[in-house]
Amino acid sequence: EGVRAALERLVRDVPDFPEPGIVFKDITPLLADHKAFSQVVEALAEMGRDESGAGVVDKVVGMEARGFILAAPVALALGAGFVPVRKAGKLPGETHAVSYALEYGEATLELHRDAVAPGERVLLVDDVLATGGTVAATRQLVEACGGVVVGVAVLMELGFLPGRETVGDLPLHALMTI
Ligand code: 5GP
Repeated sequence: EGVRAALERLVRDVPDFPEPGIVFKDITPLLADHKAFSQVVEALAEMGRDESGAGVVDKVVGMEARGFILAAPVALALGAGFVPVRKAGKLPGETHAVSYALEYGEATLELHRDAVAPGERVLLVDDVLATGGTVAATRQLVEACGGVVVGVAVLMELGFLPGRETVGDLPLHALMTI
């Protein structure tokens, strides 16, 4: 079974979660399947390799919370460090913070100031690209540290939302587009 078939079989649609009218993509059945999880991690890591297969990024950034689950094994696969981007108030050290608009209200994401060094090459990893707000905010955080975002790898892109436009000129690799 290929990655795409595994995603189709093991990502579950949950209607009306977390709110009426939203169909939530639940990745927990995929995570519980060792073979599928391994395949997905390898496919996401592909973006951080050169033609010889060597890792070409210094850090892999995962966004709270499902991004952590995917970005950490991708970082290990690439021989890179893992860096968490967290919701406001969770990181203990000095942070950069970026606020961005949600459908209702606002969210703030934070990154430790010393988590990415100037000039470091960074891959962003998350489960779902929806409006792209999370990726855009995370890019700003990495750039505030002087890091360079070289790509974005996600399991799934919701093609009916403007995520790809929001991501703009960054190389974006989605294992599946819905
Ligand atoms: P965005 O900022 O692109 O609008 O939303 C993406 C963020 O929301 C990601 O961090 C992702 O984890 C979460 N998200 C939005 N919709 C879904 C969904 O249907 N399923 C999952 N698993 N996460 C979602």
